[in-house]
Amino acid sequence: MAQKQKLAVTLYDSLARAERPFEPSIGNTVRLYTCGPTVYKSPHIGNYRTFIFEDLLRRTLMVAGWRVKHVMNITDVGHITHSETGEDRGDQIAQEAARLQKTAWEIAQYYEKEFIEDNAALNNLPPTKLVRATEHIPEQIALIKTLEKKGFTYRTTDGLYFDTSKLQNYGELAGRDSATIQAGSRVAIGEKRSPTDFALWKFSEAEGEKRDMEWPSPWGMGFPGWHIECSAMSMKYLGKTLDIHCGGSDLREIHHPNEIAQSEAATGKTFSRFWMHGAFLTVKDEKMSKSSPETNITIATLRERGFDPLDFRYFTLGTHYRKPLSFSWEALEGARAARLKLVGALAKLPKRKAAADEDMKKDILAAFADDLGAPQALARLWQGIRESASRPAVLWADHLFGLNFAHIPTASPTPPHIQALADAREEYRRSKDWQKADEMREKLAAEGWRIEDTPRGPVVHKI
Ligand code: AMP
Ligand code: ZN
Repeated sequence: MAQKQKLAVTLYDSLARAERPFEPSIGNTVRLYTCGPTVYKSPHIGNYRTFIFEDLLRRTLMVAGWRVKHVMNITDVGHITHSETGEDRGDQIAQEAARLQKTAWEIAQYYEKEFIEDNAALNNLPPTKLVRATEHIPEQIALIKTLEKKGFTYRTTDGLYFDTSKLQNYGELAGRDSATIQAGSRVAIGEKRSPTDFALWKFSEAEGEKRDMEWPSPWGMGFPGWHIECSAMSMKYLGKTLDIHCGGSDLREIHHPNEIAQSEAATGKTFSRFWMHGAFLTVKDEKMSKSSPETNITIATLRERGFDPLDFRYFTLGTHYRKPLSFSWEALEGARAARLKLVGALAKLPKRKAAADEDMKKDILAAFADDLGAPQALARLWQGIRESASRPAVLWADHLFGLNFAHIPTASPTPPHIQALADAREEYRRSKDWQKADEMREKLAAEGWRIEDTPRGPVVHKI
């Protein structure tokens, strides 16, 4: 049977620094890897902006006709790498655990569960595979052993390091090479040979000190460096060459160049065919940060202020994923009003196919297929609604937007004579005239309506 013609999708590749036509390398399945959350605190809405952009990508690829195998990691090992230098910032999961008198394992479990729930409330599709770093220690050790065998590592007193000078094209993704960084760098590098070298395996600090999270390895008791988990787990589940690898724009500087270095040094193959990075969400021109109470806005903060997480999703759809976005409560109010207006308009749209449908669907898909042009697609959706596109066409478009329209109760408006019967029944019930109340119920049923008593009072539904 002839293969169905796939829609042409163009994506901006951060490594090529250009938009390129995309197709999966093998068959019909896209191998997508997205760097997941670090689970020592609740993710902030900046993190979720990135997860929403990645979800739009996934939805676009699916509507374009491909299957998407989406792998995301959960960084539950207690280590974070400083975003400027690649140095270890210390064991943040362990610090949070000590503060709350819980084990590192309990902290990680708690925030992982919260992430899964909040991600679902934003209507992001769950990854095909969500993988924990702590459950892939042998794979990480195996990869480090390969790198060691190939001569890419050296040992210091605190760990085993990757020697970035051994790679010609190190840092290409970030747009710099290790020599330039070395020349301009003022950071203390300790025993490292070069500022860009990074830890593959860190030793547990003191002899006899028991950490919540530590594992034996050929190099001693310790824990893996941050970058290695993504290389080990993505290649385990998706093969040596991924189709697309995503993250926020900060990861383009250190984490992703390091993932490329480790993976390509080990396999000799291209690690990912496409790299995509979402721009940052800022608050009052500041970078969001989990450690600053001013800018650390979470999904729980949104709810406390009476917002639906989908208001935030709508807010992010208004700006292209590669443009920085500044958050404010006023802007979120605006997004909520627009989303509710959309929901209200949806209930009034024709239920059967309409003349405006096909053009609207085609244009919305084309906007998403052009490097995820959500703002254009959203504007086109509004135009379609003004032109009386049908409800099924809008619900179809929601496979791309993910605003969860299908689950919004769009109860059919109750005609006045039906409402009058329902009110009369309620009146009889109040005066305990059960016989008359039942008569009203039967009359409603004869008209094709059913009455249901809910905690908020009686509600009528079309049968
Ligand atoms: P983390 O939990 O810090 O490892 O981050 C999870 C994801 O969120 C990564 O893809 C980061 O690049 C991304 N990210 C972090 N801060 C922001 C921000 N302010 N705006 C957008 N994405 C962010
Ligand atoms: Zn990663």
